[in-house]
Amino acid sequence: MKIPAKMRTFCPHCNKHTVQSVKLEKAKQRGGGMGQGSRRMARWTSRIGNHGRYSRRPIASRNMTSKTTKKVDIRITCGECGKKWIRSRPRARRSELQRA
Ligand SMILES: [Zn+2]
Repeated sequence: MKIPAKMRTFCPHCNKHTVQSVKLEKAKQRGGGMGQGSRRMARWTSRIGNHGRYSRRPIASRNMTSKTTKKVDIRITCGECGKKWIRSRPRARRSELQRA
């Protein structure tokens, strides 16, 4: 996936569209605590019972798929105010900056 090295997008600090430079970085873990899935799982396993374990395959064989893509953080720096933030992190096999 090619990402433009400079793009004209909205800057939340300037509150208008400005020309911004883009850098790629390794995706970092964001947010704290438990997500919706792990909250649901915690509620589910806190109940009494077997939770269908007899009719399920073991976890080791359920989660054996490995991902073929990587997440990348797109770090945007505003050309006017110089503030930085992370735009998004799409999945792609290969991400690179496109030099015009
Ligand atoms: Zn700005």
